[in-house]
Amino acid sequence: MTYRVRLAHLYPDQMNIYGDRGNILSLTQRCAWRGIALELLPVGAGADVDWASVDLAFFGGGQDSGQALIADDFVQRQGPLLRTAIDAGLVLLAICGGYQLLGHYFLTHTGERLPGIGALDVHTVGGGTRLIGNIAIEIDASAQLALPTGTRLVGFENHSGRTYLGAGVRPLGRVLAGHGNNGEDGTEGAVYRNTFGCYMHGSLLPKNPQFADYLIGLALARRYGVAATLAPLDDQLEMAAQRGMLERLVRV
Ligand code: GLN
Repeated sequence: MTYRVRLAHLYPDQMNIYGDRGNILSLTQRCAWRGIALELLPVGAGADVDWASVDLAFFGGGQDSGQALIADDFVQRQGPLLRTAIDAGLVLLAICGGYQLLGHYFLTHTGERLPGIGALDVHTVGGGTRLIGNIAIEIDASAQLALPTGTRLVGFENHSGRTYLGAGVRPLGRVLAGHGNNGEDGTEGAVYRNTFGCYMHGSLLPKNPQFADYLIGLALARRYGVAATLAPLDDQLEMAAQRGMLERLVRV
């Protein structure tokens, strides 16, 4: 039997920064290597989307100006059905600017208030300095992900927004090196059901293939109702690069 996955890519033209499209390439290629048929659905401004038919979604980061261009379209056109899909367990990864727009709002450092869809119980406030650099995190036990204890992810962050988590989300991880959600509380990212927001560009998934497979596995489990076993891939180079980065950033 050929497994199928429908992957929606939100605003690929306006929300694609620091190589975020690499996440799409990684998901596409890792599915292709396993004979999983992946259908890519770019979602631009004005698109009507049947979110109930989508298994996996990706929303990349963007400059404040890029976010301002699409925020109203996102909230008004996609918001209601996307929120319903997220509540129903849609697998969604959002990075930085996309993560911010899944929350309640983003108040930019120039005082512009960009609305979010409120799917994640977070809000973001822009600061006068940018939080920039390489980042390493350890997946937090409270995130309740079925990943081995102590799983670490690496990435690159560059944001003025400081994101604060409400009671309705769990942090994705604890910051080992870098700034994370706000540079203050040691958390990075947020998890709600199968939706993951974080500040990790890089691109995230090529650098962290175990997380790419975790998302693909969740999407297959949701569509087919069983935990699909993913054929192992040769990730020696990727994992060596990840280890090298962790050694540079953290004592491992
Ligand atoms: N414009 C947002 C900020 O600066 C998001 C940046 C990004 O996606 N890298 O916080």
